[in-house]
Parts: sequence; C-alpha cells; structure tokens
Amino acid sequence: MKLFPKLVVVLTLLMAACKGAETGNRVDANDAQATVAPILSTADAVDPSSFASPLEARVKHVALDLGVDFDTKRIGGTATLDIDRKPDAREIILDDNGLEIESVADASGQPLQWKVGAKDPNLGTPLAIALNPDTSQIVIKYKSAPQAGALLWLTPEQTAGKKLPFLFSQGQSIENRTWIPTQDSPGVRQTWEATIRVPAGMTAVMSAPRGAEPITQGGESVFNYKMNHSVAPYMIALAVGDLAFKPLGPRTGVWSEPATLPAAASELADTEKMVAAAEKLYGPYQWGRYDVLVLPPSFPFGGMENPNMTFLTPTFIAGDKSLVSLVAHELAHSWSGNLATNANWNDFWLNEGMTTYAERRIVEELYGKKVADEQIALGIDSMNKAVTEKGGLKGADTRLHVDVKGRQPDDAGSDIAYEKGAAFLRTLEARVGRERFDEWLKGWFNRHAFQPVTS
Ligand SMILES: [Zn+2]
Repeated sequence: MKLFPKLVVVLTLLMAACKGAETGNRVDANDAQATVAPILSTADAVDPSSFASPLEARVKHVALDLGVDFDTKRIGGTATLDIDRKPDAREIILDDNGLEIESVADASGQPLQWKVGAKDPNLGTPLAIALNPDTSQIVIKYKSAPQAGALLWLTPEQTAGKKLPFLFSQGQSIENRTWIPTQDSPGVRQTWEATIRVPAGMTAVMSAPRGAEPITQGGESVFNYKMNHSVAPYMIALAVGDLAFKPLGPRTGVWSEPATLPAAASELADTEKMVAAAEKLYGPYQWGRYDVLVLPPSFPFGGMENPNMTFLTPTFIAGDKSLVSLVAHELAHSWSGNLATNANWNDFWLNEGMTTYAERRIVEELYGKKVADEQIALGIDSMNKAVTEKGGLKGADTRLHVDVKGRQPDDAGSDIAYEKGAAFLRTLEARVGRERFDEWLKGWFNRHAFQPVTS
C-alpha cells in the first residue's frame, strides 16, 4: 500500500468521454500448483490481530459465490472454506467483523454449531464453528453489513462517468473480515476463487486471473476469478463499476472508467518496461498478468498492491509521468509483500521497507540515478518527520519491528515501515556492495515465495 495524502483530494476529471475497446483478455492460464503455505510455528509469527488458532485448524481455500447489491450496500451469498485441522480439533475460529450470518453447514449440508464471540473494538469478533471428526469443508451463508469497513460504495456522482455507482474493496490490514468470513491473517495463506454477480452492464474485476468468461443473463452479469497461488487473505480484492480495458503490452493493461481510460493509459505507457526492469532485478514476475485498475477520484490511498491488479488513485495522472513511482511501488510489491508477506502486522516493514527500497531501484533502472536519488532524499525527510511524530528516537513505533497487540494495526504504521525500512536496506547494500546485496534480496524472494515471513 502507498499512502498519498497530499494528493488525496477530490479531482474533477474533465477528460472527454471515450469508449475504450473492451477486450476479453483476462482468461489466463493460472499455471501455479495450488500448494498452500504452511503456518509458521515460531512465537514471532503469532498474529495478534487475528482470533484464529491456525495450528489447530486453518483455512486453505476460499470459494465465494456472492451477489453485489448496490441498493442495500451489501454483498451476500456463500463462502465455502476448505480446511486443514488437527484430527482432534473440536472447532475452527474465523475472523468476523459485522457479518450477518444466516447458516453454517458442512459439505453435505449438515448444519454445524457456530458462535460469534465478544467484540473487540479493534479486531471485530471471533466466529467459532464446531467441527465433527470428518469435517473438511464449511459452507457459510451470509451478508456483509452496509457499513462494512472494507467496502467503499460510491454514488454515480462520485464517479468520473456519473452514470453508474461504483464499489471497491480495501482489505489491508484487517478489513476483509467485514465481507469474507475466513481467517483474516497474512500468516494463513489461502488459495481462492469467486463467482460475483453484478447488475447487467457493470463489470467486476478482482485480484486474480479470470476463471471463466463473464456471462450476462436475466438482468445480471456473472464474473468468475480464480487465484491458484496461496495469498494472504487481505489480498482478495474486488471492484465493480462501469469499467473498460486497454492493453499496455503483452501482459500488462489498464482498467478504468471509460472517461479516465485514455489519460490513464497514456500515463501508464511505461508499465510493460517497468515489469521487465523489476524482473531484471528480482527474478521472474510470478503472477501472470500485471494490470492496473485506476479508481474513481475518491480512493483514499495512493495505491494498493492487489495481486494481478494494482488499485490506483487517479491523482497519479499528472500528465507527465512524474508520479509513476507509485506504480513502481505497487509493482515491486509483486515480490515484497505479495510473494514474501509479513506473517503479521508487527513486521509490516518487511512488506513496505523492502518495497520502498525496490521501488527506487526500479525508478533508477528506468529513469536514472538522479531521479531515484531525489526520491531517496524526500524519503529521508519523511522518515525524520515520522520519527518526530512517533515520539522521537526512543519512540516504540520508530522501530522496524513494532508491537500491534491491543491496537488496530494501522495505528502503528507510519513512514518508519516504508522509509526507515528502505534506509536500513540501503545501509546493508552500502556495507556489502550492490552485487552481493542484490543476490541476497533475489534469493530472499525466491526462498520465501508465496510464504509468510518474519524479521
Ligand atoms: Zn506499499
């Protein structure tokens, strides 16, 4: 994720409306083996922001079948969870925050006992589901609440096109539990698939390759996405709206409202080159396609590194590519954050410090050392400001490895994770030399690909 506060202002997009050519490009061979990462068992990998006890019983695959209702601002349907459990596990604990649960059953439709526990103001509630000795799949029928924290519902007036409403989700750090009943911990990686029903004429995109071509019938369009890599559940993301697509290169493209598409595509013209530059540094891009979704003006972040589909604020469209380092940042997360992911939010710097470091290396490859050095200098300023804001040199939250226990994990976050993390890695690089450091970093991504990591 990249915060972009100075530019998060409501922009009125005045670009001429232009219908981009919609292509059915996104059915990819999702060729990864559906292997699921094990749960780390060390003390530093325990997630204080999740109610789950994944070493007892864990989710390994989520299959969603959901309808999107813009009138009631709810998403509802079923989540079918494949689980692994100790033979004697009596229950599985999921994370929940405001879900309206109708029923819980096993694969054969046999009801399972379930109970929502006491609410924690930061974390939501545990959802405990009793397991029979042979339970390996759980089917939960539910709806999200209209105030679900992960879901942002925009009126037509809040979009560039002004004709249709828009929905997008933002799962990081612990918001996906407001619309998906699962173990919402980055240490519990899961493969997933989703069938999403939306009003006919709207397009649903997700952070995964398409599993099937969309179908429109009976007033609704049905989209299907399938992620065969095991990912942290905060990386499941959805956007629904009046969306059009334009290819940028053989494996890159941009989705946005039609009115925004020409300017977005022009600003993102270097994306294919950027993927190649990142691969040169960090090894093969392992996710198949890299597409960018440019959101309506009210996206409250700069960007979010959802796999296969970076979500970006339209405020990056400066007209002169001066803000495309934001794309380099989100792309770098395809290695740091999405391949090797912090096992819990105490180690958020492993996602963001490595990404900020890598972002500037990509910028250096593409735009030269002078541009990268300017960004590093601005980063040092941001780090120093963050140190002051977080209590000075001895402030607990100025450490790279923080303690989010008892807090909303985002409250511990600051430019420390990003800029002090990046500065630490540059220090190591300076000590051992770029060649050796690059070899180590590439090896880190390789050794921890599709795995949770701790400091
Ligand atoms: Zn980031």
